[in-house]
Amino acid sequence: NFRHFHPTTCKSMAIGTQSRQCLSTAVVGAGAAGLVAAKELLAEGHRVTVFEQGPVLGGTWVYTPKSDEASRPSPGPGVAEGRVYTSMYRDLRTNLPREVMSFLDFPFLPDAMGGRSHDTRRFCSHSEVLAYLEAFTDAFSLRHHIQYDTTVTLAEPLPAGHENGLTDAAAVSSNGQRAEANGHTSHGNGQAACEDLPWPRWRLSLRQAQRKGSKQRHVSTQDFDALLVCNGHYTDARWPEVAGQEAFPGRISHSHNYREPSSYKGQRVVCVGASASGTDISREIASTADEVYLCERGWDGDVQSHPAAGPRGNIHKRPGLISLRSDGRAEFEDGSFSQPVDAVLFCTGYLYSVPFLSTSAVVGCDASQSSIEPLYRHLFPPTAAPTLALLALPWRVVPFPLAQLQARWVARVLSGKVAPPTHEELRADSAAFYKEQQEEGRRSRDAHYLGEHQWGYNEWLARSCGEPADIASTPWRIAMNNQASMGRRAAPEDYRDRDDTIDAKAISAAHADFA
Ligand code: FAD
Repeated sequence: NFRHFHPTTCKSMAIGTQSRQCLSTAVVGAGAAGLVAAKELLAEGHRVTVFEQGPVLGGTWVYTPKSDEASRPSPGPGVAEGRVYTSMYRDLRTNLPREVMSFLDFPFLPDAMGGRSHDTRRFCSHSEVLAYLEAFTDAFSLRHHIQYDTTVTLAEPLPAGHENGLTDAAAVSSNGQRAEANGHTSHGNGQAACEDLPWPRWRLSLRQAQRKGSKQRHVSTQDFDALLVCNGHYTDARWPEVAGQEAFPGRISHSHNYREPSSYKGQRVVCVGASASGTDISREIASTADEVYLCERGWDGDVQSHPAAGPRGNIHKRPGLISLRSDGRAEFEDGSFSQPVDAVLFCTGYLYSVPFLSTSAVVGCDASQSSIEPLYRHLFPPTAAPTLALLALPWRVVPFPLAQLQARWVARVLSGKVAPPTHEELRADSAAFYKEQQEEGRRSRDAHYLGEHQWGYNEWLARSCGEPADIASTPWRIAMNNQASMGRRAAPEDYRDRDDTIDAKAISAAHADFA
């Protein structure tokens, strides 16, 4: 249903003349999405509290050598205490150039980071990304809006009668004209926006981390006009069912728990999954393991004639893993077997999880936790828009600028600067999306996959915000992103350090744009 993102379906609007409404807003999570959401909400004059369960900001980018080390299954949903949140590994370098990852108005360039940069490489370390998020937080004075060590354990709509009473009158410009965005006219007649439905308000139950020496744990509730969920989706491991794994004598782990390769020294290892993490991690492990079998589902190359790859020539490409044997061998889709192996590492991705949303009638995960539904354009649950929004769900995207545009749109809808989608559009558009998904037999796992369609999605968001359509889909951003993908495929071992991975024209266009 990506044609919905075609920019011609959207109208831009004149901004600046409307009176504003300023709401109390809660953001769940102080990762990249939560931080940029706070920045955009503040820019619209809203009051903002960011609740972060951990003691620091940065989410995924906060590396720790600790891991859950639990074998399967996943130890439970994201609000469980004592879990290691991040899936970051020690030697990770980004797979996107820093320019591409940049937020729209804060370049990810060493010079712009206020002395925090310690790694000037284009494809930099995770600590440099964290330093960028810290610099961003300071540049927009977000720190005192963040409440650390506070887990949102429950978010529920307040009962009828406690609604906002908010109206879209604020969407009426001072000269009496209606604000137009997204092809709709807002109604401004004293009724709430999103047609005639009231905007729900939200009650959050909060749990403070236990202080040292204290037996008490502080729990409380707070009410907000709007809730932006930015809780990430790279923590709950996806463990595939593989026949025979109970009898397999070796170690079985998931990339969520992978930190560095030393424990695989001298071993034979099967890495399952050959997308970004699988490709990188198999190379790391191959630096110390004897042999690594890298499995990619559906790969139909010729095992016999396919040369072993990797820095030590010990990575053997194989099709998908179908079973594990009690003698330690792994069986692949083409019927071939490995030598007995010591370990299997699943690099098979993650599940969506919003355990604190008590709104199964409104929105929730599908049965296999592969997507969150129903949603209007990956963002608004149709019956709770626009005061409940779930940000940064799409995958195979450039997440920072995409989340920023989503946040900008939500913030401007809430302030009345741009008109929200009508109730009928919310309903019809999301119904069409799921119908098409079913008719085309797409996996629910691909519901939030955007890939190439991210640029059209960004354009649609930008226009909906009243911004130039290409603000996040500039030719240089698209070109650099595509060049990084091609480099990753062609030269996984050194694309990050080669001068010819990203062309100089795109780099200078990016820098000119930032300037
Ligand atoms: P997160 O960073 O996951 O932040 C979510 C926050 O919400 C966390 O701080 C968490 O503690 C908090 N939280 C969750 N539940 C609650 C709750 N109930 N109450 C309070 N707080 C809560 N992206 C790139 O652009 N480039 C890359 O090179 C890249 N590499 C990656 C490598 C790995 C190994 C992984 C896992 C991801 C990578 N990504 C990369 C994607 C990365 O996840 C995004 O860039 C981005 O960090 C996502 O931000 P987020 O805010 O959506 O989620």
